[in-house]
Amino acid sequence: MFTLSHRSPFNLMCVLLLAATVSTGAAESARNAPDSSVSTDIVDLLEQTGAVLEWDEFTRTGVLWSGLDSISFAPGEPIAVVNFDELLRIEPIVYDRGRLRVPGATFATLVERLGDQIDPLRLRPVKAIVIDPGHGGRDPGTFRSLTVDGETITYYEKDIVLEMARHLKAELSMLLDGPEIVLTRESDVYLPLKDRTEFAHSLRDDPLDNVLFVSLHVNASPLPWTDARGVEIYYLPATQRRQVLEEEIAASLEPEVSSILNDLKEEEYTVESVLMGKAVLDAIARDLPETPIERGVRVANFFVVREARMPSILIETGFINNRVDLDLLATSEYRREIAAAIASGIAAYVRDFEQLQ
Ligand SMILES: [Zn+2]
Repeated sequence: MFTLSHRSPFNLMCVLLLAATVSTGAAESARNAPDSSVSTDIVDLLEQTGAVLEWDEFTRTGVLWSGLDSISFAPGEPIAVVNFDELLRIEPIVYDRGRLRVPGATFATLVERLGDQIDPLRLRPVKAIVIDPGHGGRDPGTFRSLTVDGETITYYEKDIVLEMARHLKAELSMLLDGPEIVLTRESDVYLPLKDRTEFAHSLRDDPLDNVLFVSLHVNASPLPWTDARGVEIYYLPATQRRQVLEEEIAASLEPEVSSILNDLKEEEYTVESVLMGKAVLDAIARDLPETPIERGVRVANFFVVREARMPSILIETGFINNRVDLDLLATSEYRREIAAAIASGIAAYVRDFEQLQ
């Protein structure tokens, strides 16, 4: 369903372009360093390591690929980026009349790194999946009443999504062995938004641990009743700059380095969130063909999504003020069915993600 081409090179190019802008100061000082007395054409490096070079002449950035491992660089820059998140200090590679020349010390470093092939320590499986049933306690979310056989029942978003979340947890636990699956709330309690994302962050032992965040909600349009139906998934737009790098790490690095790393992680989260959202929509389309998904994956600005420094999506599971949707959302059967479809989408995404790490 997803291929490698969805994931890295293009995105990385944008990021590196940014990295090149950010670290001009560092490049300036590195240019004065005594190096390049012995430098080698990058072609020799490719021959020696079997790596493949992807060079973008327009942005003047390159990626060396060895299997699924990558080292990204920009000529003149004293930093290369290994597998999107590890910074490697190097003597800058030089671009000279259409040729890339690698200083001796950098050549040795790259031979060592590229020769490693896939280091199992670099595999970063998904550590945890946080399922966040929206609202709770004194915050009921949206609600509507239905009268069936003379009896009126009011359906509250907080209850609908809690039941879905429990099913989602059970389904995901069956589908995936690796990640810890946790709910932000297990009962009808009020939970401030900040606590939900802080809880998710607390599951990481290491700031680079992969934790996914999935928030469940029920939609409502401003009208009493609406023709709008179906599922919508939200993610955060790339333009919404966040501080994704943990503060203690950021503080230990030079400002320009931490800002590069920050941008790399952020870029990756946006792409990952969209891919996860698409996987969920694909699964719903396949498993619940009656449920409309045309509203698609959308850019959002919800607090929960914005504050989650990890691949995160917010799923609106249907409209409470659409008669057809409410009839479905009112039943335990549909809550279980949509949870199962969401689980299968997330599981597909996780398997794809771990394969490409
Ligand atoms: Zn909601």
